[in-house]
Amino acid sequence: MSYESARTYAGHMPSKMLDSFSHYKLRCQSCDQTFEDDGLLLECPTQHESSLLVTEYKAKRFEPDRSAEGIFKYRKWLPGTRGLSGAGSSVTYKSEKLNSLIGLLNVWVVFNGYWPEKGAVLETPTFKDLEAWAVLSRIPEQHEEVLIVASAGSTAAAFARACSLNKVSCLIIIPQAGLLNLQFPEGIDPCVKIISLTGFTDYSDAIELANRVSRIDGFFSGGGVKNVARRDGLGTTMLNAVETIGQVPDYYFQAIGSGAGGIAAYQAAKRLVEDGRFGKKLPRLMLSQNLPFVPIYLSWKSCRRELIEISEDDGKKQIRQVGAHVLTNRHPAYSVRGGVFDILTETQGDMFTADNLEALHAKQLFEETEGIDIDPACAVAFATLIKTARYGGIERDALVLLNVTGGGRHRQQLDRKLIAARPALELNEKEILRQEALERVVDLVH
Ligand SMILES: [Zn+2]
Repeated sequence: MSYESARTYAGHMPSKMLDSFSHYKLRCQSCDQTFEDDGLLLECPTQHESSLLVTEYKAKRFEPDRSAEGIFKYRKWLPGTRGLSGAGSSVTYKSEKLNSLIGLLNVWVVFNGYWPEKGAVLETPTFKDLEAWAVLSRIPEQHEEVLIVASAGSTAAAFARACSLNKVSCLIIIPQAGLLNLQFPEGIDPCVKIISLTGFTDYSDAIELANRVSRIDGFFSGGGVKNVARRDGLGTTMLNAVETIGQVPDYYFQAIGSGAGGIAAYQAAKRLVEDGRFGKKLPRLMLSQNLPFVPIYLSWKSCRRELIEISEDDGKKQIRQVGAHVLTNRHPAYSVRGGVFDILTETQGDMFTADNLEALHAKQLFEETEGIDIDPACAVAFATLIKTARYGGIERDALVLLNVTGGGRHRQQLDRKLIAARPALELNEKEILRQEALERVVDLVH
């Protein structure tokens, strides 16, 4: 989204509405200005280097509301106030078997997905479910524009279900490879429209098309990593883990595509450290990508803030060889102020890689040990945890948190009959470039 089109509705809103958002403010990490939130703002209106907005909550103590549902237990540290029902949450546990497999003593898992015996019942079984509810909760009640979400798969599933349940008009743009994720226990409400990108297209094409549509009147962007609600929703994984363990972890393992999950974990950990009761040090972020498409890894290892250049053609070829498609963002939040480069630097973190074979092996090991399946992206993170532990990169008794970003997908398919959602429109790599594509998209929602 360009600065010109950044939304600054706050000045035009009735003061009563602003009061309802007053448990937090937004702060720009570049110029340090603070803003009241209008529920939609994605960027600082002042023109300067690219920078992520962050939330600043009035409540400084971590006090989950145990009477609230799902992630809304952490609502004092979530933006927005819209009441929604049906939200889930992460589940945190420790497994002795998993610890002996890894060769460490204090590894914990924050599990996001479907595993009823553990109390994990995220219906679209990844941590993207958490961000969808947080984003919807931040949208002002009276807002009538159509929400646009670009996704590689799991975010699309999360928004499709949450918007369907809450009757929020939504347009989802997804590369065809991601359609398999769009299967639900119930049918999807017609307020959710799905556009599938066919042919030689990927996640970045979906983002590009979503950006173009969001400039049309009547549509607004979910904002990807720029939306503070997305990050704070994902950050509830860290809140859930620390609520269970009682301490901020020493190391945090997660695979990243856009980097939103890693940034979210960092921001949540920072709030917990500022509270003072859960440890004084931020966790070292141990983030990973799936070979051969590893732009963040390559940039970090070259000690540079700028993202390395991968030609569009090479990028697309590499992406086709990656097992974990949700990790294939060609424009991640790496260089931006407050992005992955900054959080790795501040936490003395590091980047790691796993190839498809290592990820597959890790996936099998996890399933054999824990009795639940995990998604390829999480298998990448787990593979890097096993490798780092094996080569002595972690003290044996360190508190380690592994984010299982998606799990129990096969288990859910065994337990329930799922209905596949159908796209309302298909566009190939040539069609998406034409003006006519936008007209066809607009027709879908009118
Ligand atoms: Zn600013």
